[in-house]
Amino acid sequence: LEAQEAIDRLCVVVPDVPSAGILFRDLTPVFSDAAAFRTIIDALSEPFAGEFDAVAGVEARGFLLAGAVAYATGTGVVAIRKAGKLPRSVYREAYDLEYGQAELEIHQSDLPAGARVLVLDDVLATGGTLAAACALLERAGAVVAACAVVLEIDGLGGRDALAERTLHTLHSV
Ligand code: 5GP
Repeated sequence: LEAQEAIDRLCVVVPDVPSAGILFRDLTPVFSDAAAFRTIIDALSEPFAGEFDAVAGVEARGFLLAGAVAYATGTGVVAIRKAGKLPRSVYREAYDLEYGQAELEIHQSDLPAGARVLVLDDVLATGGTLAAACALLERAGAVVAACAVVLEIDGLGGRDALAERTLHTLHSV
């Protein structure tokens, strides 16, 4: 598959980031390569053509994907942000990181009720981030059409955490 080849060729594995023993998969070289970026943008939404009205991206790398997919598919884009960034009324979800907790927020009224949303991020690890993003969209009255990521890291439970969701991954390691 074209997307898998591009990811294998361009993804950089960075040892001991963000902490000792962790292998961080850096996809930014996939994004900065014009042909690879077009390939992954098209592949993320391709199974769901006509099934979503908006694309949600999780801060920050998810934003790079969501804006491009929204433009390419003629849909709108929604920001799911780290806590404290959005200026109007928000919903907030706390979720577990490997060490400690984090919080994501969404504006309460960015989407019309019943909007069908494709949720994007770069990497799926434990699934906590995408599960929180989906919960926020549902609290805001939207319907999660599917989740899609560029790279799934196997063995961390992400697929199980999203068991009730439709999940599309371009590659896994
Ligand atoms: P999860 O919540 O699934 O454990 O972690 C996924 C979130 O952490 C995503 O927002 C993703 O951007 C970030 N993340 C975790 N591990 C990696 C990694 O190895 N590479 C990149 N690029 N992001 C990661």
